[in-house]
Amino acid sequence: MGLVLVVNAGSSSLKFALVDAMTGQRAAEGVVERIGETGSSAHYAGSQERQVEDSIPDHGAAFAVARDLMIEDGQPQPIAVGHRVVHGGDELTQPTVIDEAVVAQIAACVPLAPLHNPGALVGIAAAGSQYPDIPHVAVFDTAFHATMPAAAREYAIDRKVARDFSIRRYGFHGTSHQYVAAQAAEYLGKDPSDLNLVSLHLGNGASACAIRGGRSVDTSMGVTPLEGLVMGTRSGDIDPSIPMMLHSAGWDAQSVDNLLNRDSGLKGLCGENDMRQISERAAAGDESAELAREVMAHRLRKYLGAYSFILGRVDAVIFTAGIGEHNPWVRSAVCRDLQGFGIEFDEAANANAGSGIQRISAPGSLVTILVIPTDEEYAIAQQSYDLVRDD
Ligand code: ADP
Repeated sequence: MGLVLVVNAGSSSLKFALVDAMTGQRAAEGVVERIGETGSSAHYAGSQERQVEDSIPDHGAAFAVARDLMIEDGQPQPIAVGHRVVHGGDELTQPTVIDEAVVAQIAACVPLAPLHNPGALVGIAAAGSQYPDIPHVAVFDTAFHATMPAAAREYAIDRKVARDFSIRRYGFHGTSHQYVAAQAAEYLGKDPSDLNLVSLHLGNGASACAIRGGRSVDTSMGVTPLEGLVMGTRSGDIDPSIPMMLHSAGWDAQSVDNLLNRDSGLKGLCGENDMRQISERAAAGDESAELAREVMAHRLRKYLGAYSFILGRVDAVIFTAGIGEHNPWVRSAVCRDLQGFGIEFDEAANANAGSGIQRISAPGSLVTILVIPTDEEYAIAQQSYDLVRDD
C-alpha cells in the first residue's frame, strides 16, 4: 500500500486526503475552513469522524490540526505529499518533486493564476514544516496541455506582447481530463494511443479538451481559467471588446474582473450557479433558469463540434465532474439529434445513468458517449507515487 497525502490548499481552506495510490481508496479525508478568519473549523473522516471548532490562524496551524487528527486516528505516515497546483507555466509540465527552485517557479506563475497559486504556495510551505522527512510532489492542472500544438496554443495577438506577458493558452483541469481519458481507454478495452476523445469537465469551473492518442491537442480554458465554456460564475468566451466598453463607462479592472469571474456564467444569467437549483427552477418553468442552461448547452455543443473537426474522428465523448456526472438534461441537450455525425444518443440510458462509468450512447453508435466520475485526488496520488517510487 502506498499512502499519499493529497493536498489542495486555497487561500483560506485546506482539503486533504490520505489516498491509497494503488486503489484510490481514502484512508482518511478532511477539510479545514476559514483559516485565519473567525469561526475556523476542521472536519475529518477516517476510521472515526471528528469536528474541530478552534482558532486556526494560518495554514501551518491547519496542517498541524490535520496531522494530529490523522495520528489520533491511528493512520500511518504517508510516503509522500502530493500538492495540487493550478498553474505550472511553461516550465513545470510534469509532476515534480518540490525543492526551493520549484517553489520559485510556482511563485513566478502567480501573475498567471493570482487566485490559485498563492494558496498552493502557502500550503506547500506549511506541509513542508509538518512533514519534513517525506518527498513533496507538485501536480499541475496545466501539465496535461503542454502537448498542445502551437496552432491551438497561441493567441493571434502581437508576438512580442504575448512573449513579454507569457500570454498563450495553458489550459486547466488537466489532471481530470487525463484521468477520465485513461478510464475511458480501460473501459473501451483500447490502448490510449489509439483513441480520439472529447472530454467535458463540467463542475463549477468547466472546460472541454480534445485528446488525440492520449495527448491534449486543444482545450477551452486559456491563459487563465476564465475562457471557454459557460461556468458557474465565469462568463467563458465573450467578445474581448466588452471589458473595453465597460472601462470606457468608468469600470476599473477589479470591477470587470469581479463581473467576469464571479457574477457571470449561470449566476449572471439566472442569479445562481448551482445546477441542481437551476434544474428545479427550469423544470418549473422559470425563464431565466431555462435560458441559463440553454446558453450553457449551446456553448458546449459548439465546442463539441469544433473539437470533433479538429480531431477528424471521435471515438468517445466523456462527461465528467458535478454537472457532467449528474445532469442528464445537459448531456441530452449537448448530444441529441447528432445522428448525422455518428452520435446515436440513448435517452433512456442517459436518464437512468447510475453510478460508476456509464455508456449513454446506443450500441451501434460510431461515437461512444460515456459518463465517467473524475477523481483528481486519486490521479494526484498515483502521479506522486509513481514519481517518488522511481526516485
Ligand atoms: P467544483 O468545480 O467545485 O469541484 P463540482 O464538480 O462539485 O464543482 O460541480 C458542481 C456543480 O455540479 C454544481 O452546479 C452542482 O449543482 C452540480 N452537482 C453536483 N452534484 C450534483 C448532483 N448529485 N446532482 C446534480 N447536480 C450536481
